[in-house]
Amino acid sequence: MRLRAGLQVLRRTSTEVQVGTDPRWAVRLPDLTPAEVDLLLTVDPRTDLTDLPRAAAARGVDVDRAQALVAALVDARLTQDGPPRAAVRGPAAVDVDVWSLLRADGDGAGLVRARAERVVAVLGLGPTGLGIAVGLAAAGVGTVLVDDERPVRSTDVGVSGYRWADAGSARQRVATRLLRDVAPDVSTAAERPADIVVLVEDGVADPLRGPVLVAGGTPHLSVVVRQADTVVGPLVVPGVGPCLRCLDLLRTDADPSWPTIAAQHRPVALGGEPGVVATVCAGLGASAVLAQLDRVPGLAPGATFEVALPDAVPRRRTWAVHPECGCTALPASLVGAPG
Ligand SMILES: [Zn+2]
Repeated sequence: MRLRAGLQVLRRTSTEVQVGTDPRWAVRLPDLTPAEVDLLLTVDPRTDLTDLPRAAAARGVDVDRAQALVAALVDARLTQDGPPRAAVRGPAAVDVDVWSLLRADGDGAGLVRARAERVVAVLGLGPTGLGIAVGLAAAGVGTVLVDDERPVRSTDVGVSGYRWADAGSARQRVATRLLRDVAPDVSTAAERPADIVVLVEDGVADPLRGPVLVAGGTPHLSVVVRQADTVVGPLVVPGVGPCLRCLDLLRTDADPSWPTIAAQHRPVALGGEPGVVATVCAGLGASAVLAQLDRVPGLAPGATFEVALPDAVPRRRTWAVHPECGCTALPASLVGAPG
């Protein structure tokens, strides 16, 4: 038995220590003797806590008291059984550490390993789309399908991965190479349909793509790179919350000319994605997908984040199910109603 990964024992006073620093899991152990404080300060996530009573005797700490301190750590859910660090290497190992602390059962390694069985498709590989794909591969998603035959532009070069030497090459080909650079074991081909599809589109969401995915029951995340900002969301889980058609119907309610405007949109009019906006949106998009894969709270149904210069601070909006869409079993007035 050991402390969970990432936890540190800190001295607060001569008779009190604190384990951990994040308020979500940190605890104080008060009313200790100085010898008990010294004993606890020897503990880190590599320490086998079953040996602590023996070490206590050598430091003049009562063995029963040492066992009580270990029990207090167990009660505070700060311990886990097994090796000090799960055998996950690379960037996903950081996720293992964090999720080991966040999960009640401490099984961060299990959560991250399950990602290896998942398939995500990212359609549209500008800087934001590439950033999402790379983020998912780095987080341990086993299969990341990428699709975008358009060439890398000089304006795509940046932190998400494209380099000047990539300009002119097909985005999909470069992205496949970059995914393998960060995650050598990632697969870019799948035998089965994707668990989630990420649609990264320019200007407006294609009105035909969303309904096809809804009909197939496939969760999908919409990312739309617009002229002045980028919108991340909604994450559409068919039958739960609004779909992309709902958003179009709501926009049409607000502006009857919206369908006419949307149909005239020409993606080529866009110059590119501001680098900091793409970076923020790639993080938001990847985390929304991971939460869905991990079955943990993430982007709420109908939530979108709009990210724009100058501050690139995400602004949240929430969209409702449109009563005329028919994408959920119940009309909007009854969604969330008792029974
Ligand atoms: Zn709908």
